[in-house]
Amino acid sequence: MNTVIIIGAGGVGRVVAHKCASVPHVFHKIVLASRTISKCKAIASEIKNSTIHVEQVDADHPEQLQKLMQKYHPNLVINVALPYQDLSIMDACLEGNSHYIDTANYEPKDSAHFEYKQQWSYKSKFAEKNLMCLLGSGFDPGVTNVFCAHSLKHHFEEIETIDIFDCNDGEHGKNFATNFNPEINIREIIQKGRYWEDGEWIETEPFSVCLDWDYPTIGKRKSYLLYHEELESLVKNIPKLRRIRFFMTFGEEYLLHLRVLQNIGMTGIHPIDFQGQKIIPLEFLKALLPDPSHLAENYTGKTCIGAVIKGKKNGKDEQLYIYNICSHQEAYKETFSQAVSYTTGVPCMIGAMLILSNIWKKSGVYNIEEMDPDPFMQELKNHGLPWVETWL
Ligand code: NDP
Repeated sequence: MNTVIIIGAGGVGRVVAHKCASVPHVFHKIVLASRTISKCKAIASEIKNSTIHVEQVDADHPEQLQKLMQKYHPNLVINVALPYQDLSIMDACLEGNSHYIDTANYEPKDSAHFEYKQQWSYKSKFAEKNLMCLLGSGFDPGVTNVFCAHSLKHHFEEIETIDIFDCNDGEHGKNFATNFNPEINIREIIQKGRYWEDGEWIETEPFSVCLDWDYPTIGKRKSYLLYHEELESLVKNIPKLRRIRFFMTFGEEYLLHLRVLQNIGMTGIHPIDFQGQKIIPLEFLKALLPDPSHLAENYTGKTCIGAVIKGKKNGKDEQLYIYNICSHQEAYKETFSQAVSYTTGVPCMIGAMLILSNIWKKSGVYNIEEMDPDPFMQELKNHGLPWVETWL
């Protein structure tokens, strides 16, 4: 009898709940817990074929997590709350003897600095308890990492360079909105760019490096170099990698809004005094911006996310492009969600399924590219994220 607790009833949490409910022979009992219980109830009421138990929990409070764990004794906790909660939820899993999975690496609230160091330092603690902690089981990080592992296992003797290309070519009709949690999203994209080449990290000014990439079925789009967390783990886990970069598309209108918001201080993450109260500008901005999950109903267009991988195949230089295309409308029809939440939630459910089915069985802390890519690549096709690979 497998019990899973999903923490976070946001855009991604909705997809994870729907998709877990669609695999009842693996996910026997599903609990959805979040800070706001009404959001859990709303999601549970959409899922007709399964009972979803709902709970209120503030994952910043260890005693609340402990109570939740004691009530349900989960085999696995799926963390799709915010990166700030990663460590407290990992601690709760250790105490409650549960496996753990997430989609975003830990980030302290007071500095927009994301790296795996803290989560990796839990390796021996999870190993000692014979528990598995799987990091980054979304799309990017997540599927893109598995694309790299798959290429290394099946196509190349050696990978030389990886470029990840992430395009959302959707239209939601708003002047400015983010596709996942606005606070986390804006913190991520206003950082300096960074990529790895010849053994060192190279920093670039935000949005200063861009190229036109021709996305299948979408066309050429301006794609900007950003730092993204999967670069850190792939540099460690893909041997002999010479260069890795990450590119994401942004429209002119989006960048203009972002520039203005930055220039007037609205993206600040440190408290300021406002009428006798301390407020954090970015938290206030988040309250004004559309909730990404509310964009879903009228979202049209597609996402295309993939990796271009160059390496040696039978001693010759070859270049492979592996990608997925996902339609916002199709994602909505199935899960009441837009494609960015969908492409994150589906791989998260698949990672959870492989752990609970003992197909991925390890103790300690692992990034997803360290696991056997084959069952994951197969399940992507079975659960709504078919992928294409083509030699360039
Ligand atoms: P949302 O903001 O839509 O959802 C986050 C949910 O977590 C909200 O329901 C929120 O509750 C809940 N939450 C926040 N803080 C707490 C807390 N202290 N205790 C309990 N619940 C809490 O975000 P998304 O669904 O868009 O994103 C979820 C995660 O997925 C993020 O970490 C994001 O970085 C990651 N992500 C990963 C991607 C990938 O490809 N790897 C891509 C996109 C997202 P409430 O509403 O009540 O505040």
